[in-house]
Amino acid sequence: MSEMTQQRGRADPAVVGETLVEVKGLKKYYGGQGVLADPPVKAVDGVDFTIQRGETLGLVGESGCGKTTLGRTLVQLETATEGSVEFDGTDITELTGKQLKQWRRNAQIVFQDPESSLNDRMTIGEIVREPLDVHEVGSPRDRRDKVKDLLASVGLQPEHYYRYPHQFSGGQRQRIGIARALALEPEFVVLDEPVSALDTSVQAKILNLLEDLQEEYDLTYLFIAHDLAAVRHICDRVAVMYLGKIMEIGLTEELYTDPANPYTHSLLSAIPEPDPTVEKERITLPGTPPSPRDPPEGCQFTTRCPAKIRPETHEQLDAETWNAIERFREVIRERSRIDLSIRNRIRRRVGRFSKYDDIDETVADLFDGTGVSEEVMAHVEQAADHVKDGYPNRAREYMGEEFDSVCDTTRPDLYTVSPTNRLSYCHRHTDEYESVDSVLGRQSDGE
Ligand code: SF4
Repeated sequence: MSEMTQQRGRADPAVVGETLVEVKGLKKYYGGQGVLADPPVKAVDGVDFTIQRGETLGLVGESGCGKTTLGRTLVQLETATEGSVEFDGTDITELTGKQLKQWRRNAQIVFQDPESSLNDRMTIGEIVREPLDVHEVGSPRDRRDKVKDLLASVGLQPEHYYRYPHQFSGGQRQRIGIARALALEPEFVVLDEPVSALDTSVQAKILNLLEDLQEEYDLTYLFIAHDLAAVRHICDRVAVMYLGKIMEIGLTEELYTDPANPYTHSLLSAIPEPDPTVEKERITLPGTPPSPRDPPEGCQFTTRCPAKIRPETHEQLDAETWNAIERFREVIRERSRIDLSIRNRIRRRVGRFSKYDDIDETVADLFDGTGVSEEVMAHVEQAADHVKDGYPNRAREYMGEEFDSVCDTTRPDLYTVSPTNRLSYCHRHTDEYESVDSVLGRQSDGE
């Protein structure tokens, strides 16, 4: 695609309709308090977006990217570390006590696993009625009638009221979970992987049910999923998440047919083509995502990005050598996260540290036969020496000084990349760098 406007974007400026939820600079960190504590886990690391009234916003990404934590923070099952979540103009992260309880009626969640999310010792009637009891809605008779109506709405029978969860199939249990989420007539529902634990034949029925209920009850959904096909089917817009950050957000069809961000490209390239005769270029990402305790200082995707910008001094390196350098840096990064025992620290101090001598083997595995230049090899060997001496952090810094690019050091902005104001988080959307399409296109041509 043409990376059109190349201007810095703000949270979803293009979205039409009335905003129901506005998320600004939201962070959710775990741990990290106290002088001796490990750094915090940055599950959600500064996200901005809006959800319009009546729409379904999809949230996709690999497992562990923070999407479930984000969903739970939006409905206040988790407390935000920083940032705000405005719901109809009220920042709900500030609510406490009665106000919070009152607000909770408005936002509900449907959990992924219908097997474990229902209490097996309660009848279906009790499970669905529980939120009504907690909020003392109407008389006991009103509540019973309401539950029976809800059961009918989700395709169950009134006589199911007195049965227990174990008497139902996975699909039926998910219907019960949906009925419970709708009991308090919320405006907003987080659907956390609502069909991923179900058989394929049942998934479509639940998705259709969710669409029907959305129309009937004027619901607004956040649909969290790793099944990209389901997201395409049900969502108006999609946000793509990686390591606690939203990499791209925009209209579903546009994003699926013309992705802008390198991470979206790689994620979509993994969807199997329905027609096996159509050839499709698959982008296989190297390595694994970094720990959310130690995310990159720059772009979150920098350690695996197929379109990563190189430092000017090393622009001419061939792809194989560059890839070997990146993998070597990943090994060093992992070593730097391992705490040394007191014995090894003493050995390090007296110059007898030998725990990481196998780094030579890693260097040989990665660089032998790559035609790497003497200059690059000298840097690699210097870093390997730091590792062998027991100082992987020093090696990490050394390699950073030599091979860091803007992707490693500077967080990108969100840029507007289409006339419908799709937003993408990548330095390549500025005039200064070659476009994402051009770089990925060259790679798929084997250049
Ligand atoms: S900023 Fe750099 S690392 Fe991040 S997605 Fe863009 S090219 Fe890749």
